[in-house]
Amino acid sequence: MLYRELGKTGKQVSVIGLGLENVDGSPYAQVKETVDAAIAGGVNLFDVFMPGREVRENIAKALKGQRDKVMIQGHIGSTEESQQYDISRDLPTIKRYFEDLLRIFDGYIDFGMMFFIDSEDDYRGVFETGFADYVQQLKQEGKIGHIGFSSHNPKTARRVIETGLPETMMFSINLAFDLYPAETYVLDELHKTLDSTAFRGVDPERAALYKLCEQKDIGLTVMKTLGAGKLISKEHSPFTEPMTVSQCIHYALTRPAASSALIGCKTAAEMNDTLKYLEMTDEERDYTPVLGTLRNDFRGNCVYCSHCLPCPKDIDIAAVNKYLDIAKLDIENISPSIKSHYKGLAHGGIDCIGCGSCEKRCPFGVPIIENMQTAAKLFNR
Ligand code: SF4
Ligand code: SF4
Repeated sequence: MLYRELGKTGKQVSVIGLGLENVDGSPYAQVKETVDAAIAGGVNLFDVFMPGREVRENIAKALKGQRDKVMIQGHIGSTEESQQYDISRDLPTIKRYFEDLLRIFDGYIDFGMMFFIDSEDDYRGVFETGFADYVQQLKQEGKIGHIGFSSHNPKTARRVIETGLPETMMFSINLAFDLYPAETYVLDELHKTLDSTAFRGVDPERAALYKLCEQKDIGLTVMKTLGAGKLISKEHSPFTEPMTVSQCIHYALTRPAASSALIGCKTAAEMNDTLKYLEMTDEERDYTPVLGTLRNDFRGNCVYCSHCLPCPKDIDIAAVNKYLDIAKLDIENISPSIKSHYKGLAHGGIDCIGCGSCEKRCPFGVPIIENMQTAAKLFNR
């Protein structure tokens, strides 16, 4: 394994980290084998943003006797409502969830991450409510080692860094996201009229953010390294050819200030495959052949992160989108297993009332209401 210093935290983190969201809902044995494979491979950075008690406890149990081998990014403000992921800025709720995380992980979290600061409301919810004071208090009391935050928005991320509070940032980075112009919302109409070859440049605002991290010595950890698997999928890749896992990792790790690329492995086999990056030649890692082959705008693609929740109708939006994506690959021949998975959901697209609260929260511009309607039509419910 290779290790890099995580900015001003001074901690040496493995260049490949483990994002544990994909083991949410997995049996303990699977969590254990994934955790063990990561540790055996020298991975020492784990991201635990999930608010669910069971997955947190499974991870802590798998780490029993080896907690000192890893550092944990634990998120403050990641909560649940009706057993769905939620984001909260309500102090009592935040404290309840984070203190539960502390209890589960023996009273200490290495990197206390202020969760999901994307919009103006998120920014105010953190810096104008006592949330940031609570985070500083956690650090003073030695319950967290360092203060960090997560974001998908380069403008807001810059503002957060400029407060001088965070030492580290987790940001969504991959080649497809970086090719987006920062003002994507404003330019949506314009993009429709442009040939995809126009999207060649790396978005200057995102590039400047990574540089800012370097200048201010903010440690950068990377989420969505594989674009939820879409960049490595032949069907879903926005490029003419899918990227390899190693190309995606290499792209992330060659951004200024990037210390660790988090990969959401859910089995030991996936973890071991991911670790092959370390043995590859520079040629095998090289992502530049993909540049200039963008065939569509990646914006609007669901990456199954569940940041859009909660839904008042308790729809598991990421799951509906996932089954819809698979179904759309061959609409005339939707496989019975996909139909049956969809039917197994407690609520489907047909239950959507179009309230739009999910679309406001989705950082990736997914047309969720339209997707719910399409899913309802395709799956007849
Ligand atoms: S719709 Fe958006 S927020 Fe919801 S799971 Fe997909 S990408 Fe994430
Ligand atoms: S628009 Fe539909 S899917 Fe989105 S939160 Fe409202 S009911 Fe749920």
